[in-house]
This record gives sequence, C-alpha cells and structure tokens, in this order.
Amino acid sequence: NATLLQVEGLSKKFSVAGRWPWQKRTLSAVNDISFSIAPGETLSLVGESGCGKSTAGRMLVGLTAPSAGRILFEGQDLSGQTASQQRAMRRRIQLIFQDPYGSLNPRMTVGELIAEPALLHGLADRRSANDRVAELLGLVGLAKRHAGRYPHEFSGGQRQRIGIARALAVEPRLIVCDEPVSALDVSVQAQIVNLLQSLQDRLGLSYLFISHGLSVVRHISHRVAVMYLGNIVEIGPKAAIFDQPSHPYTRALLAAAPVPRPGARQASVALAGDMPSPLDPPSGCRFHPRCPFAIERCRREIPALTPGGDGRLVACHRWQEIPAFQANAPGAQH
Ligand code: SF4
Ligand code: MG
Repeated sequence: NATLLQVEGLSKKFSVAGRWPWQKRTLSAVNDISFSIAPGETLSLVGESGCGKSTAGRMLVGLTAPSAGRILFEGQDLSGQTASQQRAMRRRIQLIFQDPYGSLNPRMTVGELIAEPALLHGLADRRSANDRVAELLGLVGLAKRHAGRYPHEFSGGQRQRIGIARALAVEPRLIVCDEPVSALDVSVQAQIVNLLQSLQDRLGLSYLFISHGLSVVRHISHRVAVMYLGNIVEIGPKAAIFDQPSHPYTRALLAAAPVPRPGARQASVALAGDMPSPLDPPSGCRFHPRCPFAIERCRREIPALTPGGDGRLVACHRWQEIPAFQANAPGAQH
C-alpha cells in the first residue's frame, strides 16, 4: 500500500499579542500530528472549530509554514526542496475551500479563470487552453457554454464546481478540501460530494477532507482523524471510528451529531463546556476538563496515540476500561 503523503510530527505555533503589547503568548494550533494518505484515499480531519484542522490543511498546501515536523509528498521532503522544485511539487497538492467566490476575480470569465492556473504552470498554451477548459468543465459537470460567463452568474454549488475545475487544471494528486460543502444546501452538498467521489475514481485523486459535518465525512471518507485542541486523539478506518468510537471525545462528537446512525451502538457522552483556549491548554490530556472519565492521571500525563483495535490509534489512558458499548448506560442508543 503505497503512501502518497506522509506527515510526521507536524506542529504550528503562532505568536500572538497578550493583554499588554510587551507580552507575547504562544498559541499551539497544531501539536505534533502524524498521518499518511494513500493514492486514491480520502482521510477526513474532523473536530470542532478551532481544533487546528484548517491550519493543518494550510500547512500541506504551503500557505502556512510549519513550526516543526516534516511533510513528505511522493517520498520527497517538501521542506528540503528548492523554490522551483517546491513549485512543481506544490502544484500536485491543491486546496478547495468553503466558497471560492471571494477568490474568483469577478472580471474574468469562467473560461479564463479555469485556464489561468494551467497557463501559469505551463500545462496548456493559448491554443490548447480552450479545449482544456471544455474538458475541465465537462469533468465537473458544467456545460461548455458556461466558459464565457462570469462568477456572479452562478449558484454556490456551481461556483464550487468552478473551484474544483481550477484545482484540477494543474493536475493535482492530492486535494485538501476545507469545508467544501459547509456553505451549501443539503441537496447541493450531496451533489458536490458525489462529484468529488467520481473524480477520485476517474483520476485516482487523494483527498484530505476537513469538515465538522459528520454525515458528509461518513459518506466520503476511507479513514478519519479526530482532532481536539491541536492534537489527533483518534485515527482509523471509517467503520472503526463511526461504529465503535474509542476515544471519549469521538464518542461525544458522534453523540452530539443530529444524524441517525443505524447499526451504530455507541455510548452517548455529553460534551460539557466549551473547548478551552489553545493559548492556555489544559495539562496532561487536553480533553480532561470535559471528559466524564477523567482521573487524576489524566491531569498529569499526556496520553500517546497507541493501537486501539480495528486498525485505529487512540490517545486515551482509559480506552480499555471504558466499556466498548455502554449497553446498560441510560441513554445508550441501539
Ligand atoms: Fe478522558 Fe483521561 Fe482518556 Fe483524556 S486520557 S480522554 S481525560 S479518560
Ligand atoms: Mg476551519
């Protein structure tokens, strides 16, 4: 099973102003995360807003510089590359995000917008650009005649298709999808998710799919990584995470999701309180102030990711003690 992307010990710290100008504080947005993505695979990063998932995605596409760690793409360390090598490698990792509208120049036609990245990277010339645009529009399910229109003439779902076509124009192997359907109506969400899946099948694409929407994640993922306050707390195959969540935070996230999950037998764990500030993260296990299973050890010792069955890794001191399904607990769902 070849690896396309390998992320090792990736961290991002931001220096932020404190209450007074001479105070500098460190915000640990992403804290020593590691994962890999295989060709043709979708790994989802899920968690509440502010958990660091978008920052992780931005580091992969080169928009944010890591504070520590390595990003290996096709076996090459991106940080060890020259600028021109980086440019060629970076082209292979593209980003699509919530609403591409803000990044689409309103005075350019859709055809120009889609041709632009291909021309910039020398993947098309003026003569071949029109054919390439027609081909890309077809790939994302838009008619050729749309090439002459302007972004404001399109709906949110169509604009996301245009954003996807622009990403595909430079022939990526990995697309970081940061909440790509969160701003869309549910019926349109399904269309875009289906499009992403069919493009994956046709082109062998890999996705890092960043989302807080668990029903979409359940639909599109092969594997899922759950993030909390900058850390990956559980990562594994989709079925392991959704049907038999191990980490108390994963259980709580799933219990809070308003989606019926037939067949999923999981304890309902209520999420108490808000996520603490990453400026002042709790000691030990960062989840301990909100965890119903926390014991003294959890306040002192940071739990490492360790194998937790069904191909998953879980970072919890007590995952084995917490009954897999609290069948007798009040509120347990069957
Ligand atoms: Fe809860 Fe302790 Fe596990 Fe953290 S390590 S999730 S506080 S039981
Ligand atoms: Mg975000």
